[in-house]
Amino acid sequence: MEKKVKSILKNNNTNGVWKKEMEEMGDAHIFSSIDTPLREDAFELNDDDKIEKIEYHFSEIMDIIGLDMKDDSLKGTPYRVAKMLVKEIFAGLKPENKPKATLFENKFGYREMLVEKNIKVQSTCEHHFLPIYGKAHIAYISSGNVIGLSKINRIVEYYSKRPQVQERLTIQIAEELKKVLKTDDVAVYIDARHMCVQSRGVEDVGSSTVTSSYGGIFELDASKRKEFLSAINKDLS
Ligand SMILES: [Zn+2]
Repeated sequence: MEKKVKSILKNNNTNGVWKKEMEEMGDAHIFSSIDTPLREDAFELNDDDKIEKIEYHFSEIMDIIGLDMKDDSLKGTPYRVAKMLVKEIFAGLKPENKPKATLFENKFGYREMLVEKNIKVQSTCEHHFLPIYGKAHIAYISSGNVIGLSKINRIVEYYSKRPQVQERLTIQIAEELKKVLKTDDVAVYIDARHMCVQSRGVEDVGSSTVTSSYGGIFELDASKRKEFLSAINKDLS
């Protein structure tokens, strides 16, 4: 695997076309699949081994940049970064960290729309490894089952803790909620800022990106979409 990557990089050095294409694809934030592209052997190494390897490689990166790794302020950074990547910001890659959602019977027979607004989204752009932060707004209509509200936050958090593209994040959250709630009547709306857009490239500090996924009745019935959008104060009509 590593050899293959190296040979691609080598070709790239001779003509530069591949690198340019990759740069354009990254800046356009094009994504290739709904599932996070993980290798089959992604979890063969345990967390501690991953942290140790990343620590070594990150230290190399800092060294190449020219930093003095003997400096007291810097010498712990490779370990801190490695631990943060494995245990925190990419913890959502690990299937065992997926929140277990307990279904409750909808005893009151509430069949209206349930909206949960302003759920924190803190993710990482997979093209630049810089933060994405914003809010998710979610609605569903119960098919007879409900889940605890905090579970919705946990599902958003789990899929956010991956290298992501906002479109994929939106779809992954929507698909998981449909599965858990046993209904297609799920709407997900994410409004987020990308540090890779704000602090580099076009450096547009004021812009944000909106993505949405409307399933079931939300897809079929424009008035349900409108009700949802007005509940989250995004009624644009
Ligand atoms: Zn990016």
